[in-house]
Amino acid sequence: MRYQIVTLGCPKNTTDSDRIARTLERQGHRAVERRVDADLVILNTCGFIDDAREESRQAAEILAAERQPDQQVIVTGCWSQIEREQVIEIDGIDATFGIEAWQEIAEHAGAVEAERDIPETSIGVGPSAYLKISDGCARPCTFCNIPGIKGRQFRSAQPDALVSEARELVVRGAREIVLVAQDSTAYGAEWGDANGLARLIERLAAESGADWLRLMYAYPGFVTPSLVEVIANTPQVCHYLDIPLQHGSPTVLRRMKRPHNMSMVRGTLDRLRTAMPDIAIRTTFIVGFPGETESEFGELLDFAAEAEFDRAGAFVYSPQQGTPAADMTDQIAESTKQRRHEELMALLADVSARKNERQVGRRLSMLVESEPGQTTEDGDPIIAGRTYREAAEVDGLVFALGEANPGEFVDVEVLEAMGHDLWAEVID
Ligand code: SF4
Repeated sequence: MRYQIVTLGCPKNTTDSDRIARTLERQGHRAVERRVDADLVILNTCGFIDDAREESRQAAEILAAERQPDQQVIVTGCWSQIEREQVIEIDGIDATFGIEAWQEIAEHAGAVEAERDIPETSIGVGPSAYLKISDGCARPCTFCNIPGIKGRQFRSAQPDALVSEARELVVRGAREIVLVAQDSTAYGAEWGDANGLARLIERLAAESGADWLRLMYAYPGFVTPSLVEVIANTPQVCHYLDIPLQHGSPTVLRRMKRPHNMSMVRGTLDRLRTAMPDIAIRTTFIVGFPGETESEFGELLDFAAEAEFDRAGAFVYSPQQGTPAADMTDQIAESTKQRRHEELMALLADVSARKNERQVGRRLSMLVESEPGQTTEDGDPIIAGRTYREAAEVDGLVFALGEANPGEFVDVEVLEAMGHDLWAEVID
């Protein structure tokens, strides 16, 4: 059977799509580039917030409306897990599955040429690939519906399995492996290993063959000294950390049921910057959480200005059904949320641009992602990629004069900062 997977949502969903693809490939099914050529179209959906669910619904409707004669369209993932009855109502959807349903989807597709030994390396990956180290979440954040979708317990994958999955990603073309989870710092918590993540990173560095390892989604308060040491001293680990902090006001954080000791947060940022003066730190914030006063929002602005994150995103709070925050009575007016969002985004963009300016003149190693043959308006060859300071999909890009193929590392000198992006040239 020829199949195509359409993936929405976060990097964790990308890893699930990859798992579905590998399970199908093992059974003899083959991916196709053009949707019209597929016998089976699989939509892997996101259900994190209202907008994501709406996007998932629209994508399902489009795929169902555009289906070819004899083509099947099936829907899986978070949205399908929580609102399956709505998916079923869409005319033209053949089947629905919840999360982690790769085996059921493979059974639905049926086995093809099951006797043949088809290597798992048949599906390529890009220069950067995600490795999901655990799933589920046992944290009590009052705004988040992920534990309700993914399960309220951490489920860490065994280190041996992750090392072999990482090796396989490298064989399939990945130079960078990005570790993802709902909370990556909880890795190994179920078996009582407080340093599970640090130990896993050391093993991946020693055994996976990846040139770069990057860590996303660290939980404040769990960035342990041994984790900082491993990030600082393991050559393959990018001096980069994503710590979603969600707010800068202790009272809002308390209502969010998030770590609210701002001295601890500041201490963590200091420790990271002392151990790695060149580290790039990314975070995300939520504005307009129920009850957020002007003064609490001011605390967030002050904190964001003071902490000088290299990269930061901000989301407007939206109530999620079944979460404690959705039932809080003091919801913020939409216009106030939007105004605060714009104000915070402007501040974050300023800080990020200033930090980018400081990169001018630096020589950095860049992982090339662009296809060959791109040129500037003047006809000069140009490539695009990322240094250790940019994570795929969420941060900016580096554009450099010069030539190289995707997946190659080149040294570049930064010539100019352009907002979130950098302009550079390849150096010999
Ligand atoms: S740690 Fe992240 S995934 Fe877990 S409940 Fe909090 S926001 Fe949601």
